[in-house]
Amino acid sequence: MPEGPSIVILKEEVQQFKGKVVTEVSGNSKLDIQRMTGKKITDFTSWGKHFLICFSDFTVRIHLMMFGSYRINEQKESPPRLSLKFKKGELNFYTCSVKFIEEKLDDVYDWSADVLSNSWDPKAAKSKLKKHPEMFVTDALLDQSIFAGVGNIIKNEVLFRIKVHPKNKVGDLPPKKLNELIEEARNYSFDFLKWKKEYVLKKHWLAHTKKICPRCHIPITKEYLGKTNRRTFFCNNCQVLYE
Ligand SMILES: [Zn+2]
Repeated sequence: MPEGPSIVILKEEVQQFKGKVVTEVSGNSKLDIQRMTGKKITDFTSWGKHFLICFSDFTVRIHLMMFGSYRINEQKESPPRLSLKFKKGELNFYTCSVKFIEEKLDDVYDWSADVLSNSWDPKAAKSKLKKHPEMFVTDALLDQSIFAGVGNIIKNEVLFRIKVHPKNKVGDLPPKKLNELIEEARNYSFDFLKWKKEYVLKKHWLAHTKKICPRCHIPITKEYLGKTNRRTFFCNNCQVLYE
């Protein structure tokens, strides 16, 4: 599943189409995608895992969900959900969710929640977390209204980095650890972005999909945790459970 940093990479890769007119639209989306024909793309932006294609009077929201993918200036065998053609080049999206946003983006998105945004606000994240002391840290990190862009890999690696057990509740964390959680959600996301661009992301995983804890040299535990039942990799020895 593409996490926030992968969407930032997508945004960088499509810059060639900024300011360009869409000459042809196709795809199996049931929406009125033809409304993009003949319209100019004014910008590309993103919020967490949402990729946003901006036109002067509306925005297209692409969410790659679990199995979505895209191709730039090439096609996959499978039919695209949305295909945009330009005088020069094309942009194709597969198995994703497509939605139109009619409102102004500032009215729809809380930019301060996006861990990779310049508008990211750690204080806002902290006050949101304080309102949910009963929430498990695994759920908190995946909560897009608090940490937009954080996905399962980032969750696992952040908790391992800060030595926090995934079965902690937000309210049980010492203040120092709560701050570290917020800081590392952003830091690790930028590391993810850098490593992904260099094709070395997996090499840097310390807990995610790992069998042995690199700190303790004992087996890593794998459990399906949280509201969303996502694969969680952690070390029962060095990741502390506070109570
Ligand atoms: Zn360990």
